[in-house]
Amino acid sequence: MSDVFTGSFTQQEPIPEAGIEAAVEVMRSGRLHRYNTVAGETAQTVLLEQEFAASVGAKYCLAVASGGYAMTTALRAVGVRAGDRVLTNAFTLAPVPGAIAAVGAVPVFVGVTPALVIDLDDLAAKADQADVLLLSHMRGHICDMERLMVICDAAGITVIEDCAHTMGAAWNDKASGTWGTVGCYSCQTYKHVNSGEGGLFVTDDPQIAARAIMYSGSYMLYTSHLAGPPKEAFEQIKYETPNISGRMDNLRAAILRPQLADLATQCARWNERYYALEHGLRGTPGLTVIERAPQEKIVGSSIQFLLDGWKDTAVLSLQEQCKTRGVELKWFGNAEPVGFTSRYDSWRYVDAPAMPDSDAVLAGIIDMRVPLTFSLNDCSVIARIIREEVGKVFQAEK
Ligand SMILES: *Cc1c(COP(=O)(O)O)cnc(C)c1O
Repeated sequence: MSDVFTGSFTQQEPIPEAGIEAAVEVMRSGRLHRYNTVAGETAQTVLLEQEFAASVGAKYCLAVASGGYAMTTALRAVGVRAGDRVLTNAFTLAPVPGAIAAVGAVPVFVGVTPALVIDLDDLAAKADQADVLLLSHMRGHICDMERLMVICDAAGITVIEDCAHTMGAAWNDKASGTWGTVGCYSCQTYKHVNSGEGGLFVTDDPQIAARAIMYSGSYMLYTSHLAGPPKEAFEQIKYETPNISGRMDNLRAAILRPQLADLATQCARWNERYYALEHGLRGTPGLTVIERAPQEKIVGSSIQFLLDGWKDTAVLSLQEQCKTRGVELKWFGNAEPVGFTSRYDSWRYVDAPAMPDSDAVLAGIIDMRVPLTFSLNDCSVIARIIREEVGKVFQAEK
């Protein structure tokens, strides 16, 4: 009898009881809006911002409506205007080029390496094409950040980090999101903390922080932002910065604070599952696991591997076979965007030249979620199923 996995790849853990209680308290108070406080009260949103800034070691933090909103706000706040070109990853998810398009700017895609990070040689070659890089740490893979910063600093490129998959992760012990000028995080259900929707924005630059607060819709109540810059930072920009509302509310912040307090524990649990899967997959003929750099502190909330040189029909049949055994694999090589797996040439609002080297990598990328509702035993079962099915398809194709 061959195993069948019966768990769900989309089932997250419940919100911690402390978060539920705090949320109920906010609802009982009726003061859900971040600026609706009584004398002596600090809004949950403000407390979340202070705690998050401290956790990553950033000076300023702003809680917003989504990760996508954090990115569009970052682009606006660093001065991107309609018609500007913005460098970004060819291997990322749709909200990233979408954020660039939302401010009327034009994505210029940078390739992906077989280690699934941004191709720094390609970045260096394109460095004269834009003043801003929206760097996506796609699926938690962090590139050599020292080298990236050398390239960007030399070319005068401002770096905005998309940390939707790297909350809790670091490169050389420096938190992901604090290498560039702005770090953007998502609190959406499938990321590392879950408030349904939500985002966080961090920076050390007082002017950029002040602009972001004004953009998010501060009604001139910016002095209540205890994780914001001093009020002098607003003097000039408060008249010049349009209100493009996208605040976070106290209900979401209340749900998130206990999760943030638990983040390190949760990241360790993700990594146990990730390495159980990696261990089970390593050495499978036809399948390449992704080697992680020693400088990378990972959060293994998903796992990727490569099927190098496989025919499309073979990949599709592997996907099908695994699915009948309860294992959901996503494939970035599919010509059609399915679910979350779109790629640079799926975004046809961008006139992107072909990238043959990246195409060759993308064609082999298999991706799988690792929710914390999986046990370590589940991870072993899943790895065994993939190993067996890869074996069958790979043998048949030979
Ligand atoms: C989810 C995600 C985002 C945006 O987050 P939302 O909160 O859904 O807007 C950005 N980048 C990547 C790579 C993502 O997966």
